[in-house]
Amino acid sequence: MKVTDHIAKANGDTQFSFEILPPLKGQNITSIFDSIDPLMEFNPPFIDVTYHREEYVYKERENGLLEKQVVRKRPGTVGICAAIQNKYNVDAIPHILCGGFSKEDTENFLIDLGFLGIDNVMALRGDPVKSETYFTPEKDGHNYASDLVSQIAALNEGRYLDDEILNQSKTDFCIGVAGYPEKHMEAPSLDSDIYFLKKKIKKGATYVVTQMFFDNARYFAFVDKCRAEGITVPIIPGLKPIATKKQLNLIPHRFSVELPDDLVMAVVKCEDNDAVRQVGIEWCVQQSKELIEAGVPILHYYSMGKSDNIKAIASHVF
Ligand SMILES: Cc1cc2nc3c(=O)[nH]c(=O)nc-3n(C[C@H](O)[C@H](O)[C@H](O)COP(=O)(O)OP(=O)(O)OC[C@H]3O[C@@H](n4cnc5c(N)ncnc54)[C@H](O)[C@@H]3O)c2cc1C
Repeated sequence: MKVTDHIAKANGDTQFSFEILPPLKGQNITSIFDSIDPLMEFNPPFIDVTYHREEYVYKERENGLLEKQVVRKRPGTVGICAAIQNKYNVDAIPHILCGGFSKEDTENFLIDLGFLGIDNVMALRGDPVKSETYFTPEKDGHNYASDLVSQIAALNEGRYLDDEILNQSKTDFCIGVAGYPEKHMEAPSLDSDIYFLKKKIKKGATYVVTQMFFDNARYFAFVDKCRAEGITVPIIPGLKPIATKKQLNLIPHRFSVELPDDLVMAVVKCEDNDAVRQVGIEWCVQQSKELIEAGVPILHYYSMGKSDNIKAIASHVF
């Protein structure tokens, strides 16, 4: 079932959903099931599975020279989605990127998803590869998520890359895209970022999931701005509980978001990460309650494969 149908069916009730990431190559799927099992009691209508593109690593050869290798440390997005749908009978939403995909790769990826009965996708540009500053599209790939949305929407109308393909059967994907209450790190302004967000929706996206934020006022202001610009689709808030002291520096750096002073000081005063985890849970519970009060359709949690704090939050909230 599509995300938009889940929202319609809930009749205004806020639902619980979360995102997981595939395990590192070499691990089996048990770790995924172990992180999902404790959260199933909160009846998620869907679970997102992130996509991780290739990275460059340098390995030392016997002669002392460094060899550049291309590796994908977390493959398995599509397989995990299929396993989730099969085991839990819950919709799984694979993330799909511009980065690392040619248009042909994208089309074939979407065909696989269609055959597996997956009818939601989260369309993203992806970050630059770690060793580069700027995003570079794949040869014959997409520059921006809006172009990727266009390709998915075209396939939904039965338009394949090769128009001589016979029996051009239509896919039926509900397309989600990313939104940034504190603006995307590369965007020159929040207004320009919202301008391009609107473009993604015009091309066929039907819902937005936000980057994590720690101050609800940022989310409410973002939604107001989007509505003023004529964006009417659901804007699902993404939440992440702080769990370690290190994240005080890591999260702003990695995701270009600010942490409120009250939260920062509460974490700074913690003696150890157990205490930080508790602060993170309490903060996130407060955020969640206020967002529910405001009538958000879904609370979407970034679990990062760790379900214990998400379970603690959901137990207070749902
Ligand atoms: C909910 C969520 C889930 C995510 N999941 C993943 C994941 O699974 N895997 C992963 O690798 N990353 C993931 N990301 C990170 C995401 O890939 C990065 O934030 C990436 O840098 C931008 O992706 P986007 O889809 O927002 O890009 P876009 O919408 O293409 O925007 C990228 C930048 O370009 C600007 N822009 C857009 N269109 C144009 C245009 N036509 N001309 C000029 N500028 C333009 C935008 O303002 C923005 O600054 C996720 C992010 C979020 C919020």
